[in-house]
Amino acid sequence: MSHILHRDLTTPLPVAVGGQGNTLIDENGNRFLDACGGAAVSCLGHDNAFVREALKRQIDRLAFAHTGSFTNEPAEQLADFLVSKAPAGTGEGRVMYLGSGSEAMEAALKLARQYHLENDEPSRTQVIARAPSYHGNTLGALAVGGHAGRRAPFAPLLMDVQHIDTPYAYRMQKEGETEAQFSLRMANLLEDKILELGPQNVAAFVAEPVVGASLGTQPAPKGYFKRIREICNAHGVLYIADEVMCGMGRTGTYFALEQEGIHADITTMAKGLGAGYQPIAAVLAAQNVIDKIAMNSGRLWNGHTYMSHAITTAGSLAVLTYIEQNKLLANVRARGEQLELSLMARLEDHPNVGNIRGRGLFWSVELVKKRATKEPFAASLGLAPKIQRSAMDAGLMLYPAQGCADGTSGDHVLLAPSYTSPPEEIDEIVRMTGDVIEMELGKLGALT
Ligand code: PMP
Repeated sequence: MSHILHRDLTTPLPVAVGGQGNTLIDENGNRFLDACGGAAVSCLGHDNAFVREALKRQIDRLAFAHTGSFTNEPAEQLADFLVSKAPAGTGEGRVMYLGSGSEAMEAALKLARQYHLENDEPSRTQVIARAPSYHGNTLGALAVGGHAGRRAPFAPLLMDVQHIDTPYAYRMQKEGETEAQFSLRMANLLEDKILELGPQNVAAFVAEPVVGASLGTQPAPKGYFKRIREICNAHGVLYIADEVMCGMGRTGTYFALEQEGIHADITTMAKGLGAGYQPIAAVLAAQNVIDKIAMNSGRLWNGHTYMSHAITTAGSLAVLTYIEQNKLLANVRARGEQLELSLMARLEDHPNVGNIRGRGLFWSVELVKKRATKEPFAASLGLAPKIQRSAMDAGLMLYPAQGCADGTSGDHVLLAPSYTSPPEEIDEIVRMTGDVIEMELGKLGALT
């Protein structure tokens, strides 16, 4: 019996013992082609020698020097790299390192609070986020997330966060409404909410530039974030971009927000930042935030023991150096186009495929009971977990998720292949994904 407190206490899991390219291998020699990077984490596959060697070199040199007394070379170099790649407008930003995406969200919220206190606006305490959304599992991050099911058991422990609708074109764009009209209508929900709460009470707005786990790789309609930036500027509200899942090249640029032509005041990153070689997350504060703090207390009011850990930052620096030296973002864009076209060709006409959406190497297929009405499958059918089990049986790792319990979204299957994927592997992923989805839908008798 396993003594690990797994998510599922009853079903034993295969024991992973190794990796080869974009494939994981279990103790029985079974191979699993990784089409999702676990949860959009493993962007360089599972045996990258460049990253491994960098980690070994750093272990031999320096592991830990407490940030109360020291900085270190890899942490500094990584921060320089992240600031140099940040969207225009970020300026001379600064980076803090943490261990997970949830921690990064907590730190971002506290930083926003500190900014407003240093700016002599103590009444700014309210956070506005979107629903559906996911921003992490610790109490602060869970409060920010707009996911009724995950929040419900812990509701009495959560701080008050207001939510506006996430722009979800497939279900929310009205008949006859142009993309520009839809975009403006959805972004203006933020201004309505700020005015309802009183701008003097609002600290920050949190949103993923491209939605990940909660909805399935949903880019924003064109112009949405430009309007969000205007609204935040007009009302003195900080914009926190959660790039934990969509950042670090996943959508074809280091920061997904770069493609929207704006910058965030505070940005969180994780997953692709470490590519799974070591746990690391980061928060990037733009120059306007840093300047305010530098002019006042001159101190960050936050701290964790393992911040700026030399081994985790060295591993992450190697990941980004490898991406840069091998021009992998160009591969993300090219393979992303291939993935889009192949998914469309294979699944678009299927009667239970409602929507295929995404950007870069970050794509999802939303499944519905009836295309005409967009009616989702009942959650009780457990379609998403069934697809995941079938995929594992077939030697494929997918990241399916159930739709919202209130029927406002359908089950979806998320794909996030490695940035190193060759064209033939993308074809293989689409072939296997198509087979698994069709098989599980067939078993449901959903095909008419
Ligand atoms: N934000 C987003 C957008 C995420 O996708 C996740 C993880 N799925 C998190 C935050 C939380 O990250 P972690 O699981 O590393 O705490």
